[in-house]
Amino acid sequence: MKECRICKSPIEPFISYGKMPIANGFLTPDQFGQEYFFEMRVAFCHKCGMVQLIDQPEREKMFNENYAFFSGTSKSMAIHFKEFAEHVLADYVKGPDPFIVEIGSNDGIMLQNFAAKKIRHLGIEPSANVAQVAIDKGINTVSKFFDEALAREIVKQYGQADAFLAANVMCHIPYMHSVVEGIRILLKPAGVVMFEDPYLGDVIEKTSYDQIYDEHVFLFCVGSINYLFQQHGLEIFDVEPQKTHGGSMRYVIGHKGAHPISKRLQEQISKEETIGLRKAETYDIFRRNCEQSKKDLMLLLNKLKKERKRVVGYAATSKSTTITNYCGITPELVEFISDTTPIKQGKFSPGVHIPVRPYQEFASRYPEYALLFGWNHAEEIMANEKKFMESGGKWIVYVPKVQVL
Ligand code: SAM
Repeated sequence: MKECRICKSPIEPFISYGKMPIANGFLTPDQFGQEYFFEMRVAFCHKCGMVQLIDQPEREKMFNENYAFFSGTSKSMAIHFKEFAEHVLADYVKGPDPFIVEIGSNDGIMLQNFAAKKIRHLGIEPSANVAQVAIDKGINTVSKFFDEALAREIVKQYGQADAFLAANVMCHIPYMHSVVEGIRILLKPAGVVMFEDPYLGDVIEKTSYDQIYDEHVFLFCVGSINYLFQQHGLEIFDVEPQKTHGGSMRYVIGHKGAHPISKRLQEQISKEETIGLRKAETYDIFRRNCEQSKKDLMLLLNKLKKERKRVVGYAATSKSTTITNYCGITPELVEFISDTTPIKQGKFSPGVHIPVRPYQEFASRYPEYALLFGWNHAEEIMANEKKFMESGGKWIVYVPKVQVL
């Protein structure tokens, strides 16, 4: 892949993170020998501004019946999606008997709020295990990948949608033209598209390079999303910056001319110019910042190892796979990673094979240091971990820079 997935222009690679496994591919020792790796290189397109992986593993390798990410494990995200659903209903969905479609609906964390109000809805969720959790909760869900062909089937069966929603999934899908064309077909003339994903501007400003992993084939910004949707007769009419995932952007989109354009959109476009998201130099600086962050983190972990301090990873997140593999963090440096998700426990982290253990093992014998892989939930985690801190425990964070808290 040497041309832009969106506008077909040549793209400019700016960093390689080296050999990477599947970010959510937690595994058992008998699977170590067959583990899949790809070279994770990232490029930027001068013409449309899209930042993208040069290669991405096949979708079935990442999204299948063993998918390890269950959205409902985070209480703060459940609140976030409840507010999201309320906002959609209060501000955008007015007519009688509305129909809401969400892709990447996972265990139903967002749609449960529509289902509770008996609003017609449909979740599209290809990972069968998480889709089943939603179905068991009474949420109407099909286990398929969304694209243009599926959009046509949905329209035939249910009619057009008042709202098309997505969170942390659009940036996963390489065949974006099929998805956006599907949205155009599916959306009522006055309907609304609202989706949010980690925001390129935040990744650049905070050096939060762990947002880059196999699933995230794109890092979006307002400029690149505008370019993409305009190709399909749709346009952004508002943006709503979010704190989630360390900085996300919610794009509010409709058919061209259907909604008034907000002032906030223009302000965000100007902000992107100021940050320099269209300049090759910005990505050069970002690469150097990543290299520095890696050096600083490894220096700290090696020093703690020499001092015989216990370091345990906190939360076996997808993002941690980029950090551990790019930096080379092995079980010699991090004893285990504590995680509350049963499907990950007893397994080993992708690539570097750090054991993943139940949370009780962290809480029953606190380490001196916890490497906070779930840094984007720092507030929620630190509020829950007062005892760890009272016992003298310290946090290691690496965003926006490596430091001990
Ligand atoms: N929306 C949830 C959230 O924000 O917590 C889940 C996000 S999870 C990172 C991404 C989800 O998108 C996974 O459950 C995955 O199976 C699903 N997914 C991946 N490709 C998809 C596609 N083409 N259509 C619909 N869902 C997809």
